[in-house]
Amino acid sequence: MTLSDPSSDQPASIVARLALHASVLLIVLGVLAVAYPQPASRSHSRADIEREAAPAVVSARAASLSAVAPSGAAEPSADDLDISPTLAAGGDMTLASASSLLKTPQRETIIPKRPRKDLLVHTVVQGDNLSTIAEKYDVDVDTLIWANAELEEDPDYLVVDQKLRIPPVSGVLYAVKTGDTLSAIATRFKGELRSMLELEFNHLSDANTVPVSGTLLMIPGGEKEYQPRLVYIDGRAVMVNAPRGGGRFVWPAQGYITSFWAPDHRAIDIGAPEGTPVYASDAGVVIQAGWNGTYGITVMIDHGNGFQTLYAHLSAYYPAAGSNVRRGQAIGKMGNTGRSTGPHLHFEIRYQGGNVNPMRYLPQ
Ligand SMILES: [Zn+2]
Repeated sequence: MTLSDPSSDQPASIVARLALHASVLLIVLGVLAVAYPQPASRSHSRADIEREAAPAVVSARAASLSAVAPSGAAEPSADDLDISPTLAAGGDMTLASASSLLKTPQRETIIPKRPRKDLLVHTVVQGDNLSTIAEKYDVDVDTLIWANAELEEDPDYLVVDQKLRIPPVSGVLYAVKTGDTLSAIATRFKGELRSMLELEFNHLSDANTVPVSGTLLMIPGGEKEYQPRLVYIDGRAVMVNAPRGGGRFVWPAQGYITSFWAPDHRAIDIGAPEGTPVYASDAGVVIQAGWNGTYGITVMIDHGNGFQTLYAHLSAYYPAAGSNVRRGQAIGKMGNTGRSTGPHLHFEIRYQGGNVNPMRYLPQ
């Protein structure tokens, strides 16, 4: 076509021009129809796009969408919800980076807790007790006792300048004997062979390694068959949120008083057959439970009001150190352990650290 053509009045050319306009109009309408769909189909198309990206999530969300907005009336809110997967995807990414940021400090706190590679030696100083030493090296009290033969015999035995072996982690430190196998050692001390292999201290290449007699091996998390369970807990520490005694004591056992308070016996003794129940004289927190030198098996309770009570020579005890006990709760059985002649309960009441005559506090 030329510029002179519009001036032409030929009907054929007008028809051709109309046809051309019509076709252009059709194309434009067609393009508009595709580019500008109805609102209802808009969310579908968006959902389709998302379905390609994350099929499972979108189908689940589509189900929730239909549940939330079954009618087209809620279209705008449905649209908002429809956008949320995109936001959630972005949110997930943010969370992922946030959690990786969170993991970094966690890793840092784990590093200092990595088991030591060597056995340490602690020299006892004035004021040390097993609990403070255990806390200092991040092992439990039993671990200290099991690693030091003199403590196993008498857990109370601590003197200044005494050297204590400090294992790298909590568990049993064991000197290999001829004929031992790793799996037998693990079984014997209720530990796991895998954790023995993983512990750098042990220098074990594989489970079939035959350990050389005399080698010290650590059984992480292991236990010894005989446990002289002795746990001291700092009285102040357990006072936090601890139940307080009402200052009204009940008799710790039924029986006959065989020894009263005296200058050389700052307690009372209650005699009864072995196995007679022993009760907490008031509510409180068990601050020591287990073997306690000449006291034998002993339970000590802090009542959180300045009073403490002590129950000695037991044949058995129930609550572990750190347990809360109610007044009158059974805490053990009368026995004859420690320095004792015949089954009896040695019962002490202490106030502000000093022994007081229990007869002044027990109901008459
Ligand atoms: Zn006594």
